Amino acid sequence: MAAENPDATFRSLGIVDVLCEACDRLKWEKPTKIQREALPIALEGKDVIGLAETGSGKTGAFALPILQALLETPRRLFALILTPTRELAFQISEQFEALGSGIGVSCAVVVGGMDMVSQALMLAKKPHVLIATPGRLVDHLENTKGFNLRSLKYLVMDEADRILNMDFEVEVNKILKIVPKDRRTYLFSATMTKKVQKLQRASLREPVRVEVSTKYQTVEKLQQFYIFIPAKHKDCYLVSVLNELAGSSVMVFCGTCNNTQRVALMLRNLGFSAIPLHGQMSQLKRLGALNKFKAKGQNILVATDVASRGLDIPHVDVVLNFDIPTHSKDYIHRVGRTARAGRAGKSITFVTQYDVELFQRIEQLIGKRLPKFPTTEEEVMALAERVAEAQRYAKMEITDSEESRKRPPPGRFDNDKVEVSETNAKPIGNKRKRKKK
Ligand code: AMP
Repeated sequence: MAAENPDATFRSLGIVDVLCEACDRLKWEKPTKIQREALPIALEGKDVIGLAETGSGKTGAFALPILQALLETPRRLFALILTPTRELAFQISEQFEALGSGIGVSCAVVVGGMDMVSQALMLAKKPHVLIATPGRLVDHLENTKGFNLRSLKYLVMDEADRILNMDFEVEVNKILKIVPKDRRTYLFSATMTKKVQKLQRASLREPVRVEVSTKYQTVEKLQQFYIFIPAKHKDCYLVSVLNELAGSSVMVFCGTCNNTQRVALMLRNLGFSAIPLHGQMSQLKRLGALNKFKAKGQNILVATDVASRGLDIPHVDVVLNFDIPTHSKDYIHRVGRTARAGRAGKSITFVTQYDVELFQRIEQLIGKRLPKFPTTEEEVMALAERVAEAQRYAKMEITDSEESRKRPPPGRFDNDKVEVSETNAKPIGNKRKRKKK
């Protein structure tokens, strides 16, 4: 079977030349395991249920057969991809555009938090491929004149487990009711939950199931460490570790939006190029933060679990669990941001006196004892004074910006919580004078 043949090429799996060339351009030398498994089945015209996570190459596994079918019978509003989050929607669109650049494919992304009218205009142009979050799509189906899905030939439900966990079940059912029966359906999910099984029965016809586990690869290439520290010195240790990792791209995971904001501000006050990403930021700012980090404009992304699943950030060298995840499965998703596509990576988990039980659960889940990350207490504590000053400034900045939020200047319209921009957090070396109140 092709799936068992690691030497298979896109061509040998049945992909046409023009799309093989697109894979070459993307430097996809060989199909990934999920692609080896899913492509031949999809190209035979069967429904596919794929158990695979982001990072496995699953987008290519559904995008290539759709593009190939589009080449055979070109038509508008040919495929609909449902995905749980806006970030994923844009990533999928980027991959469709990159793979379809040689065949002039047009894509549109329809997600919440963005202007309905301009989306309606995009829909009126009838793209070939529509990538949408379920809530906003239903909104358009109900309110945008002339928009329907009658010409659809392909439906993809990406990250189906997350779509359902995010309570999109009602919307998905509405969509399933109106999409044409005569279509192909691909359902991708990281896990097979009861809800996913139900969705599968409701939407797929005699699907072939393919499955890949990316865990083995992760464990092999990923060096995982922990640091045991008193909670009150966490910030000092963070700064010390980041100093040591200078030049690497690092994701720092925090437990709450507030702490994410605070840590990003504190690090910026110390001269690090850190940028926050959390659910209280507007969609535009989240995308902006992600793009800056991807473009390596900022090398430290401080994030909540918003970023722990599904985001395709290819170059993360190190994942720092600054706040230990409360659900051990989130640990796997977080550290899954590094050591991807065969590259090496490192993760360091901060464990305080309050986190021992949670940490033990993580070790149980991954089935191994982690080694300590080496640190020298005196060196770390030598930073205490500077860190304390940066903490104080971060706190002031948060208070300042909370106060200014209460009294928005006339004409300014911004719903976001405190956000780090180029202007409101400067290294302490050239710090602003705080106005006496
Ligand atoms: P996905 O799991 O679809 O989100 O893909 C994760 C990353 O793997 C993306 O950056 C893709 O561009 C990349 N990728 C997908 N297929 C291949 C392949 N065959 N070879 C190398 N990289 C790939």
